[in-house]
Amino acid sequence: MRCGSCKQNAVFASPRYCKQHFIAYFENKVKQTIRKYRLFTKKDKLVVAVSGGKDSLTVLYILQKLGFKVHALAIDEGIVNYREHTLKDLERFCSTHHIPVLVLSYTGAFGKTLDAALPILKEKPCTICGTFRRYLLNKGARDLHADVLVTGHNLDDEAQAVLMNFFKNHLDLLARQGPRSGVVRDKQFIPRVKPLYFCTEKEVLLYAYLHNFISTYVECPNTRQAFRADVALLLNQLSQTFPGVKQKLITRYLHDLPLLQKETAFSSPEHCQRCGEPCYGALCKACQYSQRLTAVC
Ligand code: SF4
Repeated sequence: MRCGSCKQNAVFASPRYCKQHFIAYFENKVKQTIRKYRLFTKKDKLVVAVSGGKDSLTVLYILQKLGFKVHALAIDEGIVNYREHTLKDLERFCSTHHIPVLVLSYTGAFGKTLDAALPILKEKPCTICGTFRRYLLNKGARDLHADVLVTGHNLDDEAQAVLMNFFKNHLDLLARQGPRSGVVRDKQFIPRVKPLYFCTEKEVLLYAYLHNFISTYVECPNTRQAFRADVALLLNQLSQTFPGVKQKLITRYLHDLPLLQKETAFSSPEHCQRCGEPCYGALCKACQYSQRLTAVC
């Protein structure tokens, strides 16, 4: 199979590109997303949420390559046999590319690793983990004086999130998604942006592979318990019969998003009485968990 733009061997089938043209195509897609959705400018300080996986290393690399000011921010949840490996990949990557990195941990912030918190809190791992991670990413980005918090979410992640919120009837959450998340402004809240929004999982995987970003592949042991895993499987199965189904879902979603936002009554956030972070109610969810963890010490 030959590249559609030159006579070299193709490394990607749809669209048909050789290594050089695939990289140019991929980076151009990221540039267009940043420009079209006005995600940030060269004056902004970008804090990039990184896990050490393919998506976050790819977005970190491209933004630095495009000349943006980047600082990496990683979260150590304390998940044995998982996070220690990806953090190693991340440290190697940041040292090679001279990118500053800050690592915050659940133990440092909440007194326990995720593994230790699970039997106490008795909720689904991803529910607790997502709450703690969102809290630390926002706080860490603010402490680093970020203008925006960049995440490595790709098109597959976003198609899954749209369906999940739809299935769960979380229309308010659905209305907050998109390449630039959040609708209500709060000075404590750092806006989240997703430059890989239109890049498929396969495209990101190939880009990361061609740049040799990942030395080992490890998956969080809790992934399979998450509702997201079922939705991802459903979308992947559908894509085999109906190619392009994820792209079409995202296109339709973005088309209807302004209407959805107009119809949604967004209330302004309050601030947590314990930590001051934006939240709805007297105490944020992270502080509610944290109090339960402290009570058993
Ligand atoms: Fe946390 Fe769930 Fe992701 Fe594992 S899969 S890192 S538990 S959110």
